[in-house]
Amino acid sequence: MTHQSHAGYTGQAHTSAPPAGLSFPLEVRVHGRGGQGGVTCAKLIATLYSQMGLHVQTFGDYGSERSGAPVQAYTRVDRFPITNRNKVYKPDHLIVLDESLMGSQVLSGAAPGAMLLLNTRAGLDSYAGHYVNCQLGTVDATAIAREHGIGSNAVVIVNTTILGAYARLLGVPLTVLETAYASLGLSDDLAAAQYAYDAVRMRDVVQPGSGADTSSVPNAEVPPVRLMSEHSVDYPPTLLTGAWSSQTPSYREHDAPCNSACPAGNDVVGFVQALKSGGAEAALAILLRTQPLPSVCGRVCPAPCMQACNRKSFDGAVNIRSLERWIADHSDLRPVQHPAERRRRIAVVGGGPAGLSAAYQLALRGHGVTLYEAGPALGGVLRSGIPAFRLPPEALQHDLDRILALGIDVHCNSRLDSDALQRMQDDHGATIVCTGFGPALDLSIPGTELDGVEQGLVFLDRVKRGPVTVHGQVLVVGGGNTAIDCARSALRCGAVSVKLVYRRGREEMPAIDEEIQDAESEGARLMLYRQPVAFMGNGKVSSTLLAEVEAGPPDASGRRRPVVTQRTSTVACDKVLLALGQTQELDLLPGNWQVRNDRAWQGDQAKQIWFAGDCASGDGTVTHAIGNGRRIALAVLSSLEDAADESPTEATAPVAPAQIRFSHFEVTPPHRDRQIPPSVRRANFEESNLGLSGPEEAGRCFSCGHCTHCDTCLLYCPDGVIRRSEDGYRIDSKYCKGCGMCVAECPRSAMEMHEKIT
Ligand SMILES: Cc1cc2nc3c(=O)[nH]c(=O)nc-3n(C[C@H](O)[C@H](O)[C@H](O)COP(=O)(O)OP(=O)(O)OC[C@H]3O[C@@H](n4cnc5c(N)ncnc54)[C@H](O)[C@@H]3O)c2cc1C
Ligand code: SF4
Ligand code: SF4
Ligand code: SF4
Repeated sequence: MTHQSHAGYTGQAHTSAPPAGLSFPLEVRVHGRGGQGGVTCAKLIATLYSQMGLHVQTFGDYGSERSGAPVQAYTRVDRFPITNRNKVYKPDHLIVLDESLMGSQVLSGAAPGAMLLLNTRAGLDSYAGHYVNCQLGTVDATAIAREHGIGSNAVVIVNTTILGAYARLLGVPLTVLETAYASLGLSDDLAAAQYAYDAVRMRDVVQPGSGADTSSVPNAEVPPVRLMSEHSVDYPPTLLTGAWSSQTPSYREHDAPCNSACPAGNDVVGFVQALKSGGAEAALAILLRTQPLPSVCGRVCPAPCMQACNRKSFDGAVNIRSLERWIADHSDLRPVQHPAERRRRIAVVGGGPAGLSAAYQLALRGHGVTLYEAGPALGGVLRSGIPAFRLPPEALQHDLDRILALGIDVHCNSRLDSDALQRMQDDHGATIVCTGFGPALDLSIPGTELDGVEQGLVFLDRVKRGPVTVHGQVLVVGGGNTAIDCARSALRCGAVSVKLVYRRGREEMPAIDEEIQDAESEGARLMLYRQPVAFMGNGKVSSTLLAEVEAGPPDASGRRRPVVTQRTSTVACDKVLLALGQTQELDLLPGNWQVRNDRAWQGDQAKQIWFAGDCASGDGTVTHAIGNGRRIALAVLSSLEDAADESPTEATAPVAPAQIRFSHFEVTPPHRDRQIPPSVRRANFEESNLGLSGPEEAGRCFSCGHCTHCDTCLLYCPDGVIRRSEDGYRIDSKYCKGCGMCVAECPRSAMEMHEKIT
């Protein structure tokens, strides 16, 4: 149920021109009590004006459960589309459905000369000396509505009746009202409106000293008048209704699920909202706190953040990965380096994502970092493994330039051994080892020595270093990213056909799902539940014997154990690429040392030698390596007794989809990346995904758990006790009854209720 409908211009045919003398924008505020139909009254007014070809907006305060409680509804009218979505604070017209509500709160913000239409038993003359700055209209809508049987004896509904009086005050013919009532199915109430049209009495603004305070329309016989003091309620009311509450609302940030799911530790909601409000530079400033490789992750990350996104179950996850890429590609912002209080000298071994992340975090904090890399250039697998059509070298270089601008001392072509590692302890406060996975796994089956059988990682490295040509039919063995990259690269190198053999089902393939889809659309064929048992050929591989595999009981990883059967078939092939994974071994570690909690120990003596990335965690993604590198860098600093500058924040349970008010959002499918067609892209190594065409996707983010100052809580508070303040909003606890409407209606779960401690 919603009382807030921001109705736009209805687009109906115009049945009348706006009355002369009205100026726009025009704002109308209806005051009534819950159950009197104030919101419908405001809707009728909007319909009336929309028939004059004007733009309208109407909405009401929420308060249905509080029958009899004061409520307000608003209508805004303009000749132009209306963008202001605030409540009406300065009404031009005021309609009061219940005279007992009259008081300064009702008149608050009304400009001199505002029109005030009052449902009252008292005649116009009774208000001599009152509301002199207003054009005052009075009508006994209650008596008229009761007479016409609208509502019940106990609760007479006056909204449709008083509209007749309003039309008369505007100088609008009744025929216009007829169409408005018909469009809302209220034609039965027209007779009462007609009655009020005739019965309303009006007085103009009383000029000071004129002595004129008389009706411009002859006054009819009216019942006896109650004194104003009997029913005036001044604001703030003297009754401190806040004392009634047992619970109280407060503004509280909750964790967004995307943030909790990002292994790199990125503040996703922060950077996406910053992109929306401040552009790429503002967003990159947030990203660079945790993310030294946004161009890389914006392209190759498996994006667990998107799996966790609350928008996924509504109309599709926010395309976070591509927003990250867009930000990185559209800003050259450099991070700000802070001088360290006590500058340390720290060595990092290995220039892949983990080593780069550790070095970056240390250099950001002003420490001296020496980075040793075995290969000829930095990047690790990003440089040697991931193909250029997924990660162009320029994108990697963009990130590297930013990192190296922090003044890191880089030594490439420097493969360290365990002796060197031990010696480092003399010159460095600490060493972080980030050497990645070990050698590729092999298959212990006949024929692996045949010409044409090659490790996928070696093949990918060759492809990255120079042109490679592949002939004939290729068989790739494996189901991870390396296997998919081999398949797609082989197609680009000239393979006639590529078959990908995997011993489990498609759902269990560890490769990124989009990458599997891309490989298939480029022509690679999946052969699932198959395992090679022999490579055959005369010196050179020419065929592979494949055994069928059945899914057995679950293994330690929870996946069903592959059971190799005796059923076999032979498939012809000219080349085999093995992509079976890599070992996780620390050959740098001296023989009598162990690793505990990512740190080297000799017996019970902890060394200042630490391990991060794939060599330590074995997580196998760039984003994990980045997060791990940062955490270990901070652990090193804290072990050296440097103050931790990343204060641990109290984690809250991530906001779940059930805590998002989907009804506040429009269904808008995600903006997709621009892709080069498969037939074109498989012919070269150019980047195949061109990313987003703009940053508009940021607008889809719900901002889960994080206030956007949307005013919804303020609008829905039935008692109007929420006010904007310099740092957000202030809830007047003296008058908050603790109904929880604000918390329930917050679209993004940025508030919560607490038991009140008395
Ligand atoms: C083909 C392939 C595709 C992949 N695709 C994706 C993907 O799409 N998305 C994703 O998130 N992840 C992907 N991954 C995984 C990801 O690349 C790794 O998890 C990540 O690079 C690990 O980072 P790291 O720094 O721990 O190790 P690495 O990237 O392996 O870097 C280790 C570095 O240490 C250096 N080194 C090793 N020994 C020494 C030594 N003794 N002295 C000095 N230097 C040394 C190495 O030369 C290397 O540069 C892919 C992996 C492969 C192989
Ligand atoms: S909607 Fe935005 S804040 Fe919510 S999970 Fe998705 S990206 Fe994160
Ligand atoms: S690094 Fe990956 S998981 Fe983290 S925000 Fe970027 S795309 Fe999402
Ligand atoms: S309703 Fe809007 S303004 Fe209020 S707490 Fe939620 S996000 Fe913030």
